[in-house]
Amino acid sequence: MAKILDDILSYREMCDAENTQTMQRGMNFRMNLAYSVVLMSQKTNAPYSDKIYPDGITVEYEGHDLPKNYSENPKLENQPEKLPSGKLTQNGYFIRAVEEYKKNKSRPELVKIYEKIHEGVWSLKGYFDLIDYKVVNDGRRNVFRYILKLSEKEENLDNQNLILNHTRLIPSEVKREVWKRDQGKCVLCGESKNLHFDHDLPFSKGGTSLLAVNVRLLCAKCNLRKSDKIE
Ligand SMILES: [Zn+2]
Repeated sequence: MAKILDDILSYREMCDAENTQTMQRGMNFRMNLAYSVVLMSQKTNAPYSDKIYPDGITVEYEGHDLPKNYSENPKLENQPEKLPSGKLTQNGYFIRAVEEYKKNKSRPELVKIYEKIHEGVWSLKGYFDLIDYKVVNDGRRNVFRYILKLSEKEENLDNQNLILNHTRLIPSEVKREVWKRDQGKCVLCGESKNLHFDHDLPFSKGGTSLLAVNVRLLCAKCNLRKSDKIE
């Protein structure tokens, strides 16, 4: 049976996989022609309440608050479907996709989910179908909760995702171990931004990445310097 993925990526690798410099928002409707992207967190101090159901294939993802420039305390305001101007919010786009799916029996919106594990460490959970949403009172105001189910389309799309292929060869347990060992910093200069999992020997020269000892954290600058040296 299909299972949710747990592919560990650095923040930089996640952005590279989505062809973007930064991921500013948690909800990204139609990040590209093929799918939407959401960033989830199950940490207790996370700003939103997201969870994976015990069935192991369903994610409940909370909608987002009114932007800060519209309210002094967005956490006390109902999550909006539209801005005062009438423009749809990300919540609104996701709701519209659910309604279209239900009404036209069309394909559900495909959503790629990443989960934040630590600062700078993300886990790719895979591709999900956006099948439903509900409005829930969280004790203070109304919030949206979106229901996403692991999609069967996942594998076809993964083949197209070339950028992830090379980093995918490093097992997630190894990446966790490396991140811990290198303390979330570039081993050469100590930088904690723009990190990649780097393998000592390029795969093309027979390098293996199955062991943590062959993998290290490098920042983009040191990584670039390294490839200069090889050529
Ligand atoms: Zn560095």
